[in-house]
Amino acid sequence: MSHRAPTPPPAARAASARRSPVRDLLALTARPEVISFGGGLPAPELFDAEGLRAAYDRVLTDAPHAALQYSTTEGDPALRAAIAGRLTGQDLPTDPDRLLITAGSQQALTLLATVLLEPGDTVAVEDPTYLAALQCFGFAGARAVPVPSDEHGIDPAALADLVARERPKLLYLVPTFHNPTGNTMPAARRRAIAETAERHGLWIVEDDPYGELRFSGTPEPRIASLPEAADRTVLLGSFSKIMAPGMRLGWLRAPEALHGPCVIAKQAADLHTSTIDQAAAARYLADNDLDAHLARVRAEYRTRRDALVAGLPEALPPGSTWNRPDGGMFVWARLPEGHDATECLAKAITNDVAYVPGAPFYAGTPDRTTLRLSFTTHAPETTAEGLRRLAKTFL
Ligand code: PMP
Repeated sequence: MSHRAPTPPPAARAASARRSPVRDLLALTARPEVISFGGGLPAPELFDAEGLRAAYDRVLTDAPHAALQYSTTEGDPALRAAIAGRLTGQDLPTDPDRLLITAGSQQALTLLATVLLEPGDTVAVEDPTYLAALQCFGFAGARAVPVPSDEHGIDPAALADLVARERPKLLYLVPTFHNPTGNTMPAARRRAIAETAERHGLWIVEDDPYGELRFSGTPEPRIASLPEAADRTVLLGSFSKIMAPGMRLGWLRAPEALHGPCVIAKQAADLHTSTIDQAAAARYLADNDLDAHLARVRAEYRTRRDALVAGLPEALPPGSTWNRPDGGMFVWARLPEGHDATECLAKAITNDVAYVPGAPFYAGTPDRTTLRLSFTTHAPETTAEGLRRLAKTFL
């Protein structure tokens, strides 16, 4: 038999990619008896399945050939017009031609990494930050450097120091109802950060999948709307939390200089986002009142947040702290010193309850006492039972 040479190894970035140990642990929580506060999932019973079925139906009845055909990389014009109209009606005048429809906002992160980052580049991130953004920047060969952060987001003075020292190319932020912390950055911080980005020459990625899920307080201005940052901020939006994540629809609103390169990167990645899903979303938005749907979702999430927050004093050990976010999907908690939330998770799972430990969300040294609890998917009675089980974990 002739000699069989081995195939070349995978690229270094693929070889160094690690499975998340937390994901493996959470795989154990797929058992139906487990009450999980771990997943970052929207409540499925609140999806407007009937409205979406009708939208898909109409699209396939009225224009089946267009809906099933290849389409443009930039995205469905009606959908882009609807998104632009919505942003313009909020705080951000938007030209539909400035929008690129993506396969979820996760793809927008990949496109931006492709367009902006060389291997070895530095990205400044909140501490902690969205785990899959860290993975995405890691895959691009970039180094994520955490900026000291508190309950109001990153510290602008610390950012200025870090920028002078580390010369990051971009700053990645989830300023509203952050994942994992649920926190929102106040307007003054947003302005200070926009000024720093302007002074030091920095791209800002403003990732905003949760902003429309506000159930208390008043909206803060988008960073993309601030004059200092308008020419350097890329805003990412998503239908995942306001319509349905399975449709995989998001959008990227880039300054002019980045729009063209992002379109080309998208073309190389997947030609375009699913034609039929975009058409159905556009049809849905034309035939339904998204705000009325969102009002229902917000009211339900508020009740669910309140149920979780009300039960935490009995569920977590004395000396624990947590926040009460004004929107989004997550509560962030801190166990007393000496507790390790990753170690406690294994015991929680034996009690048929789960959460996500905070450690993997840190680009630098993790705070091992932290954990993320999602309140979206459980009725208050289920949350109460889940918290009783969680209390047993810390006995
Ligand atoms: N950014 C953040 C901060 C998220 O929490 C998520 C989803 N969990 C995403 C981006 C990706 O969302 P999608 O691709 O579904 O739009």
